[in-house]
Amino acid sequence: MTDLSTVTFGSGTDPYNKAAERGWDITDASELTSSLELEADVVIVGTGAGGGTAAETFSKAGLSVVLLEAGPLKTSSEFDMQERAAYRDLYQEGTGRGTKDGGMVILQGRSVGGSTTVNWTTSFRTPPETLKFWAEHKGVSGCSVEEMAPYFKHMEGRLNIHKWPQAPNPNNAMLQRAAEKLGYRWATIHRNVRGCLNLGYCGLGCPVDAKQSMLVTTIPGALDREAKLIHRARVVRVLREGDVVKGVEAEALTANVRGTTGQTITVRATRTILAGGAINRSGSVRAHRKANLLAPDDAGHGDLRRVDRSLLRRAAVDLLRPFSVAECPHGASRIQVGGAAASAGLRGRVLRCCRRANHREHGPAQPHPVHDRPHA
Ligand SMILES: Cc1cc2nc3c(=O)[nH]c(=O)nc-3n(C[C@H](O)[C@H](O)[C@H](O)COP(=O)(O)OP(=O)(O)OC[C@H]3O[C@@H](n4cnc5c(N)ncnc54)[C@H](O)[C@@H]3O)c2cc1C
Repeated sequence: MTDLSTVTFGSGTDPYNKAAERGWDITDASELTSSLELEADVVIVGTGAGGGTAAETFSKAGLSVVLLEAGPLKTSSEFDMQERAAYRDLYQEGTGRGTKDGGMVILQGRSVGGSTTVNWTTSFRTPPETLKFWAEHKGVSGCSVEEMAPYFKHMEGRLNIHKWPQAPNPNNAMLQRAAEKLGYRWATIHRNVRGCLNLGYCGLGCPVDAKQSMLVTTIPGALDREAKLIHRARVVRVLREGDVVKGVEAEALTANVRGTTGQTITVRATRTILAGGAINRSGSVRAHRKANLLAPDDAGHGDLRRVDRSLLRRAAVDLLRPFSVAECPHGASRIQVGGAAASAGLRGRVLRCCRRANHREHGPAQPHPVHDRPHA
């Protein structure tokens, strides 16, 4: 571990200190004195692994992007490695989220950068057996090891993922010896860090911006390309015309993100991406419920079976493929839900609903091999 007395914090690594200079368009919704009406090519709900990656990808493709984040914008200038502020500011329910029976704590981030701001940086590719399972049992297509390889490679480069070079600490060294003795396979983890000081406080926000979270990588990348970021803005409604998604409505939250100010933010967009995390009763899932897009029970772990089938008839699941805009053959209206165990942007789970019938230039809707499969 690094001797903390030798480290200088707040020493200019925070990219948000230069936000004005770089022309970044960032709004704190708690400060709005009137409601906002916006239009964009793409509106993204959530700024974690899924949302951040999507924002940079779409911005790079030349589309106008609005990012809505329920949590606050907190950056390394404020990260002081103290649990009291970090848990309150950076986690859903101040780390109080748990399973229904109270048996397990469920940690999820809630600030700009989502869980990637507080995660522990272990970064590995989705194991082949998992991809195979999803393909065989969950109807996931186009995500074989070979098909995913270039996307993994791209994000590994973007997030500086590499094998952790330092010697294991005594407890990990003991695990290593034990694994060897038992004949188990073991490996050193890969991490998405750049200039890590090995402070051991990843879960409280990296105070020196070594962690290559969305906060310091893809979101700045999107902001540099004129994306708009609105934080303390909780999406509560998906706007629809019939089954066609037209954007979202958010409520502005107070500075402590516990209450609402009464102002709203409406974003009309041709593409709507819900990337609020797979385990998310309090955020986008509840918003969906209000919009009747989800069944009234919990949508825990992004379990597709729980989602409203009338919409999911036309859904496919992708695994963090950077979204090529030109690629969608179906049309302008779709919903994507970022999700499950993404490793700092590598394994975001994306659920895409395409509503093709309304997209005239593509002609009448054709049966889709995944979307239109008969349900059991
Ligand atoms: C403490 C911790 C350690 C972890 N360590 C690792 C690790 O070492 N390796 C690894 O691979 N994974 C790790 N993870 C998991 C990984 O970070 C997540 O799987 C990944 O970030 C999920 O990406 P996501 O985009 O789906 O959601 P998130 O990154 O959670 O982002 C979702 C964002 O959406 C916002 N949001 C939700 N609802 C709304 C709404 N209605 N309106 C507006 N905004 C909304 C949330 O506030 C949040 O900021 C860790 C997670 C945590 C919490």
